[in-house]
Amino acid sequence: PALHYDAVILGAGAAGLFCALNAARRGRRVLIADHARAPGEKIRISGGGRCNFTNLHASPENFLSANPRFAVSALARYTQYDFLEMVEAEGIAWHEKTLGQLFCDGRSTQIVDMLVRGATEAGAELALSAPVREIAGDGPFDIRFEDRSVTSDALVIATGGKSIPKMGATGFGYDVARQYGVPVTEIRPALVPLTFTDAEKAWIGALSGLSVDAQVSCNDTQFREGMLFTHRGLSGPSILQISSYWREGEEIAVDLMPGEDAFARLRDLRQSAGRQSVRGALAQVLPRRLGEQLGEGYGGNLADMSDAALRPLAEQLSNWRLRPAGSEGYRTAEVTLGGVDTDALDSRTMAVKAVPGLYFIGEVVDVTGWLGGYNFQWAWSSGWAAAQAI
Ligand code: FAD
Repeated sequence: PALHYDAVILGAGAAGLFCALNAARRGRRVLIADHARAPGEKIRISGGGRCNFTNLHASPENFLSANPRFAVSALARYTQYDFLEMVEAEGIAWHEKTLGQLFCDGRSTQIVDMLVRGATEAGAELALSAPVREIAGDGPFDIRFEDRSVTSDALVIATGGKSIPKMGATGFGYDVARQYGVPVTEIRPALVPLTFTDAEKAWIGALSGLSVDAQVSCNDTQFREGMLFTHRGLSGPSILQISSYWREGEEIAVDLMPGEDAFARLRDLRQSAGRQSVRGALAQVLPRRLGEQLGEGYGGNLADMSDAALRPLAEQLSNWRLRPAGSEGYRTAEVTLGGVDTDALDSRTMAVKAVPGLYFIGEVVDVTGWLGGYNFQWAWSSGWAAAQAI
């Protein structure tokens, strides 16, 4: 007879490992399986190798979902402070980098090790290089792997989104949703660099490597963080953040002098140092390379410019309009926006309302966090919620 489990968890990433650990600690018999050779690969590469494992300010406002209320319950039941307590109990040194973002002082593998060891010590079985061939039944479930078949009362889908296929990301979770008639919202790459058409691309590419403080806006949402010029387009935290709100065909607005009145600043400069070229003046109020490039094509001195001529120039600094051609796509996106429709799930347990033994947790669900540790917090919170129910 096939081995029987209380829960089979598919996907040994952030959400799956955390769910396995907590379910096993509650005495459940758990199998966690992944098609990859190593668990928690995205945790390992996250945060530049230091894993931005949560955010001190995490609250439902930092997440995108068709139902913004869906994440409230799980985030409240297992918070950033709960995860931080676990990190501290493990003796993992951490620091706040900026904007509430908590990182390991050492390596992100400390988090992977904590989760894998925690889960296996609590009794969970971990199966790697174990792709699923077929799933059948609706509780108990029959799950057929290449080398064995098992049955389980609960089936937890924690296979993540489609971002970074090179690291083993697949659309598997969405396929399982469809198999069980669970709707999936439109999905798209998010937290992703934006690309531009040739003319703008060349212009931006000439500044490749330059990072500036900028406020980037789109669709009534704005982020003030670093913006990075690359040879492919624009990147950096402010751009990654706004990519979750931008849609094809829309413009983004970039304020290159955030918190400052560009017009007043240029007028003051005209008064105090008007005998310099416009290019020289822009190189003073902006990072030099950017100022010089923006100032190209302006002949004459600042003093020669009337208020009427200064206005559009100031507008270009504070409200630079750009129309991205697209994004770099799933190849480099940190997350997948959209996913399993939250209307089909119980927000307290992550179970499918119509198939109570089937759970979806982590990135596969239509809950997507901002950049800054929010996506891992969602993995922990949703994984914890499911673990309490199975
Ligand atoms: P994942 O962690 O992606 O785990 C899914 C698991 O399922 C994987 O192990 C995968 O191998 C497995 N799987 C997939 N398909 C199948 C299948 N068919 N069969 C079996 N197994 C399968 N978020 C933050 O909060 N902070 C950060 O610092 C951060 N940095 C990031 C850096 C990068 C480069 C990337 C790509 C993402 C980063 N993220 C960060 C986002 C974060 O990694 C994800 O949101 C999070 O890992 C999602 O957790 P998950 O468990 O749902 O999915």
